[in-house]
Amino acid sequence: MTRVLVLGGGIAGYCAALAARRDGADVTVVARAPGATALYAGGMEIVDDIAAVLRLPHHPLARLGMDAVGLATELDAAISTLQLALGKEGLRFQGGWRSRGLYADIHGLAHAANVVPESVAPGELGALSGKRVAVIGVPEVGDYDAASTAQALKELHGVEAFAEDVSIPDLPEGAALTDLYGRRAPSPRARGAAIAYPPGFVNLPPDGFELLASPPSPHGWRLQQAISLGAVATEIKALETTRDRVIAARAASRTFRADAFVLATGRHIGGGLRAGRVTSEPLLGLGVFYEGVPVASLGTRLHHLEYLDAGEEMRLGAMTDKRLHPLNEDGTVPYMNLYAAGAMLGGYEYGGDSGFGVPILTGWLAGRFAAKQDGAPQAPRAGSP
Ligand SMILES: Cc1cc2nc3c(=O)[nH]c(=O)nc-3n(C[C@H](O)[C@H](O)[C@H](O)COP(=O)(O)OP(=O)(O)OC[C@H]3O[C@@H](n4cnc5c(N)ncnc54)[C@H](O)[C@@H]3O)c2cc1C
Repeated sequence: MTRVLVLGGGIAGYCAALAARRDGADVTVVARAPGATALYAGGMEIVDDIAAVLRLPHHPLARLGMDAVGLATELDAAISTLQLALGKEGLRFQGGWRSRGLYADIHGLAHAANVVPESVAPGELGALSGKRVAVIGVPEVGDYDAASTAQALKELHGVEAFAEDVSIPDLPEGAALTDLYGRRAPSPRARGAAIAYPPGFVNLPPDGFELLASPPSPHGWRLQQAISLGAVATEIKALETTRDRVIAARAASRTFRADAFVLATGRHIGGGLRAGRVTSEPLLGLGVFYEGVPVASLGTRLHHLEYLDAGEEMRLGAMTDKRLHPLNEDGTVPYMNLYAAGAMLGGYEYGGDSGFGVPILTGWLAGRFAAKQDGAPQAPRAGSP
């Protein structure tokens, strides 16, 4: 049985573990702490237009060398397995990568998403058209204003929304949204209306739904809790390697040996990339690229681009071959049994329409490749990643 060690307890690491176990591997997941997954707003963006993604040469999904049908087949398998696994942990989701809806956040602003928690799904803005919507406010809570949210729903999305305050007297003085987490949803007086709740309440009535969050996010926290079960809580400090293989991962008081390793350590929040004068990958010094070019060779040009648009920095990251082996700066594959997945990969909009699609699909495939240990790396020519 192949032993697979997954580094990272976010959505990418979770999908890698699901896939590797499904393919018969003995999987261990190690995670230092919650990363970006625990902060997501509550709507998973998977992919908007596969054909458009395949035209982007550095996009991690385009680099897999699959056609649109191949990607669609893998997305179907990954997302249905993920939804099934999360359902077993009591977290039910609706939607799929082929469907896309618009959901309002606590400020009434709309965000697109493909897969959403069951508690968010009834708030799809199209489905609210023609309905009256009571937006629940809690006067004791200082950092949320239901009247403004209702106004935004009306003005921006044409939803017939109105605010209704429900007092919760036992909240602490100066209460915040976080003080509502885990409380039973209060019932409004208004009848015959859909009910929009700030996120975090439980036991919603049948006509209630949760708005999307801004960090800290109860949607992210629930997801992180569900996917963390079974992970070993520790930080990997170093990886032991031979000439072309990783053989072990060392934590402070334990060494994990495995046949294959999946690096799903996230971006800056997770710890998979380290910001500095030049962004680097801390565990193995893997190549970090911007638009296919190693960042170390860009000098001050990237800083100039970042000055013009802070989002440029978010397109940095590791680059992989068709089998998700991460590349060195010179475009070669350093380790044949190492796979990379998730937000540590560059070449796409981290906060954009593949925010969860890249971690889910690359995690899923990295887990499969790691379990099978099939094929030699598809190394591109040195110097032309
Ligand atoms: C504020 C915010 C809101 C977002 N909202 C959305 C959204 O609404 N919809 C959407 O589609 N996308 C959203 N995104 C993007 C999405 O959340 C991320 O792309 C995704 O969660 C990344 O998952 P990941 O598993 O790759 O990384 P992470 O979730 O960051 O996981 C990385 C893991 O690696 C672990 N790790 C790192 N180094 C080590 C080490 N040395 N040893 C052990 N463990 C280690 C970390 O502790 C962590 O567990 C949002 C991102 C942010 C920051």
